[in-house]
Order: sequence, then structure tokens, then C-alpha cells
Amino acid sequence: MNRIRIFGLTAAAVLLASCDGGTEEAAEEQPVEEETQEMEEAEEAEEETEVTVEEENGEEETVEESEAELLITEEDVFDDGSIQALVNKQHHLDADYVPHDLVTVEVPTVLQNPEINQLRAEASSALTEMFDAALEDGLTLYARSGYRSYNTQVSLYNNYKEAHGEAAADRFSARPGASEHQTGLAMDVTSESVNYELNEAFGETEEGVWVKENAHDYGFIIRYPEGMEDITGYSYEPWHLRYLGAGLATDIHESGLTYEEYIEESGMDIEEDGEE
Ligand SMILES: [Zn+2]
Repeated sequence: MNRIRIFGLTAAAVLLASCDGGTEEAAEEQPVEEETQEMEEAEEAEEETEVTVEEENGEEETVEESEAELLITEEDVFDDGSIQALVNKQHHLDADYVPHDLVTVEVPTVLQNPEINQLRAEASSALTEMFDAALEDGLTLYARSGYRSYNTQVSLYNNYKEAHGEAAADRFSARPGASEHQTGLAMDVTSESVNYELNEAFGETEEGVWVKENAHDYGFIIRYPEGMEDITGYSYEPWHLRYLGAGLATDIHESGLTYEEYIEESGMDIEEDGEE
């Protein structure tokens, strides 16, 4: 079920442009209908391949897996500065880690704070592409909270702790060093329909559903899916997007796994402290 990919026609056209390494301008010059047709054919071919793999017996599948090229490496997963960095309650970033390529995002934002309207350059470009694609489907997304420094997270966590107690704070706020927002690769997105706030209701809005179905095409995953708190450490956050690049995000989306599970499925041990 998780392997079924749903593409809006517009999203498919944009994806094709990015797959070809071409620019959006180049895509616009070509007839959209042709691209859509090509994309559908490519999609069908891909689905057929996947189904074939699924139907093979366990033995052959094992061969497939060992021969398949892994999209992540242990070196990158445990490197603070990598696009693939694993950041959670067990794997913290260094207190002095600051991404070297932060830029101000070029999409509609909710808050004035210049710090949180930043992402790493690659993630920011991808965010712009995603928001543009949503807009073409008639949906306006807003960026609410992106990069947060270690010190900002100290204040935020302490405020939550004071207001709600430590146990509650740990369910929806990260301790300093444990927030993906410090990577500059996470963005909380929202919409007018939930009054620009971050809440579970966003997941049920048209915008939230669109994000769930399309974000991976632009390199983002819903990092804290519903019902996965035991694994991710956080309750459902349909608004929290983590950038991992389109190839990896799509593979994770299709696998139906959390990032933690996906890393483990790739043969890496994340229970041990990878920081060393
Ligand atoms: Zn977030």
C-alpha cells in the first residue's frame, strides 16, 4: 500500500524537470501534456518493477537487497553536517554546530524572527519548489519555523518545561542538541485553514494531505508520522518536514518506515551511540 505513489499532474511535470536536471524554465517551454504522458509511463514501469520484486520469494529478495545500492551511509548518518544526519533523543548535535550554508527561505512565512526563517541552501531551494507546486494545485503553504540555534532550543525547551512539566515537554519539544531544527534541514509548515498554527488538524486539511502525498518528491519526509511515537520519540507532527533529498525521501516514503527504521533496515545499528 505504501508503494502506491500519487502524483498530481503538475507535480509530475515539475518532478520530471528536476529528474532531468533541467530548470523549471526549461520545463515550461515544453508541452506539459507530453511530459505528463512520459511521466505516467515511467511511473507505471516503476510500479511494475516494484511489484515483481515484492512477489519474489524471500530468498531472491535477500539477493535483491544485498545488491541494491544503499542511499545512506553510516558516515553521513552520524555526521552533524550531512544532509542525512540522524538527530533524535539518542543522537544529539554538538552544542556549537551551526550549518555553514543557511539562507533566508523564499516562501511565505508566518513569523518575523529572521533566525527561524532560514534553512540550508539546498533545503530552501527544495522548499520553494514544493510550495510553488502546491500553489499550482491551488494550495498556499506557509513556513513557520525552520532553523533554530542550540541556544534558541535551550530557551524553547525551558519554556515548555516550565509551562507543562518535563514529561510533557519531552513529548513535543526537543532538548537542546536533539532538535532537527538545529540542522537547518527541518521546516514546520502550516496553512491559513488552521490559522497558521502547528497542530494535528493540519494533517487533515487539503494542504496537509497534499504535503503528505507530495513532499517526498521535493526531498522532504513527514518525520514524525502518526502512531510512531515509540520509535521517533515524538507524537504525530504532520507539519514537521525534514529534508533528506528527493531520492532518499522518496525511498523512505515508499517504504512506509520512519527514518530510524529505515536506517536500521539499511543494516546500521542506531541503538548504540553513533556520536563517538
Ligand atoms: Zn518542527
